[in-house]
Amino acid sequence: MSRPRVVVVGAGMAGLTAAHQLLKQCDVVVLDKGRGVGGRLATRRIGDATLDHGAQFITTHSAEFALIVDRWVNDGVVAPWFRGRIGPEGALDPDGHTRFRGSVSMNAVAKNLAAGLDVRTASQVAALARDAESWRVTLVDGSELAADVVLATAPVPQTIALLENGDVVLTSSDAAALNAIAYDPCIALMAVLDGPSGLTEPGAVDPDGGPIDWMADNQLKGISPVPAVTIHATPDFSCALWDASDEAITEALLDAAQLHSAVISGSVQIQRWLYARPSVEHPERFLRLSDLPPFVCAGDAFGGAKVEGAALSGAAAAREIESTLGRNA
Ligand SMILES: Cc1cc2nc3c(=O)[nH]c(=O)nc-3n(C[C@H](O)[C@H](O)[C@H](O)COP(=O)(O)OP(=O)(O)OC[C@H]3O[C@@H](n4cnc5c(N)ncnc54)[C@H](O)[C@@H]3O)c2cc1C
Repeated sequence: MSRPRVVVVGAGMAGLTAAHQLLKQCDVVVLDKGRGVGGRLATRRIGDATLDHGAQFITTHSAEFALIVDRWVNDGVVAPWFRGRIGPEGALDPDGHTRFRGSVSMNAVAKNLAAGLDVRTASQVAALARDAESWRVTLVDGSELAADVVLATAPVPQTIALLENGDVVLTSSDAAALNAIAYDPCIALMAVLDGPSGLTEPGAVDPDGGPIDWMADNQLKGISPVPAVTIHATPDFSCALWDASDEAITEALLDAAQLHSAVISGSVQIQRWLYARPSVEHPERFLRLSDLPPFVCAGDAFGGAKVEGAALSGAAAAREIESTLGRNA
């Protein structure tokens, strides 16, 4: 019997976790529109600096994910960064949870996870259409893949658009469940400095007010050989200045951080994360769409934001697919 063909849309934490699990039983292809893997596990190089500009750290609140992170620690993929909650002045308020960083970078965690998988980057899906009992996945370059099962881990509004492009009609309850999911945006600023950032160990602050949600010194974090900061704007600031020029955003955030004079000219980059973090989540770890060939939606908007939620969602979605295929065999 031929193995079931599964197409996973998205090579972030959810998609990569699921793909690993499904590999035993299925032929799995992971498609991502990005130049590399990782999605919001994102790292950028500017000159000699290395800056994590999406997820900053990984925490574990479940035994299932703690086991995975333990393995990553043993394999040298992640390392403890600090333990406790960062306060507005950078002091630690103990909450019993270690914050893990990628040993090299957050993106390297995803690269490690992608090893051994058939991951196709620079492969943007344009439409997901149903055939009688299977799926047709059309890429923007016009190429097509056939799949018995689709696992969609892109931010949910993007998954809805792909289904609409394929003329897929959802049941009213599935449409309502997907349309209820919402995300906050986040503008991230990255800048290389010509001297210390002024932050103290472990190298981050979580301000109480103002436009800055979080600021980290990537050198103190242990991933950059030179001083370089990542600043995340609050959702309110990000909404208000979404369409502003990079220069206006830079001015406002560097003012708030009081870092103007330390920034190396020409080293600032801005990333706009439209779907940064889910603000309204689906209550379950995945959603299997009804009355269609097997199609499962997963990702951090399903039962738990953050890297941990994405991983657990991917794992739960893979189990659902395995049991669906078992039932259909
Ligand atoms: C600024 C910021 C800070 C954060 N900080 C933290 C933190 O400190 N700790 C924490 O735990 N979490 C944090 N998070 C959240 C964390 O990054 C996410 O919860 C997690 O990485 C989501 O993984 P995912 O696989 O669900 O989605 P994603 O990582 O978004 O993966 C989805 C993938 O789908 C791909 N895709 C989308 N559309 C298509 C298409 N049409 N065709 C092909 N591919 C497509 C995208 O390119 C992407 O790679 C942060 C997020 C942001 C943005």
